[in-house]
Amino acid sequence: MKTIGLIGGMSWESTTLYYQTMNRAVAERLGGLNSARVVLASVNFAEIAAMQRAGQWAEMAEVLANSARKLESAGAECILIGTNTMHKVAPQVQAAIGVPLLHIADAAAIAIREHGLRKVGLLGTRFTMEQPFYAEHLAQYGIEAVIPNEADRAEVHRIIFDELCQGKMLDYSRHTLLRIADKLAVQGAEGLILGCTELPLLLQQSHTPIALFDTTVLHALAAVDFAL
Ligand code: GLU
Repeated sequence: MKTIGLIGGMSWESTTLYYQTMNRAVAERLGGLNSARVVLASVNFAEIAAMQRAGQWAEMAEVLANSARKLESAGAECILIGTNTMHKVAPQVQAAIGVPLLHIADAAAIAIREHGLRKVGLLGTRFTMEQPFYAEHLAQYGIEAVIPNEADRAEVHRIIFDELCQGKMLDYSRHTLLRIADKLAVQGAEGLILGCTELPLLLQQSHTPIALFDTTVLHALAAVDFAL
């Protein structure tokens, strides 16, 4: 089994989901007491979030590249960035290391393609929904991303930072997300990308008939596939 390197803490609420998913998947596949070989570099999210607000992407690229280098020296044979948003700096992180960076949008796109879908809603932070890096990555697979309107984007972003990243899971906010998802379906979305690694803390497939693509689980399972 290969060793997975995870850059986490963005936020730690979703890093726990990664850790749980990877270990459960290894136990399921290998049985008994088997668990994933993982090295974790967990950052202080307050520092990263402040840099996001200030638009300091080059500085953040350096922080994550340093974490990735440390994980590689600690034996990691692949690297995961445990957040969709920070994949904005994925090219710089990959350039800093000699092992593969497993991209979260590849994991999502492969699953969407397997479902035969071409047009999907995208929920995530403002950065993920509004900046081109994520939608362009999906477009390489022939997948079109539909995003919420301005007011709904602001609300999804607020739910992520003010609630989910701080461990608050509110029914009211789940209903807000479901209402936004319904609007995206009216705009032609055939499925919905949970394009923020905390969203599955609030929204699961049992809550909606719309096909959900949980990037946290898909990314963690891609790492397990790589490791095994
Ligand atoms: N975990 C979130 C994501 O997947 C948001 C936190 C961040 O801004 O990195 O985008």
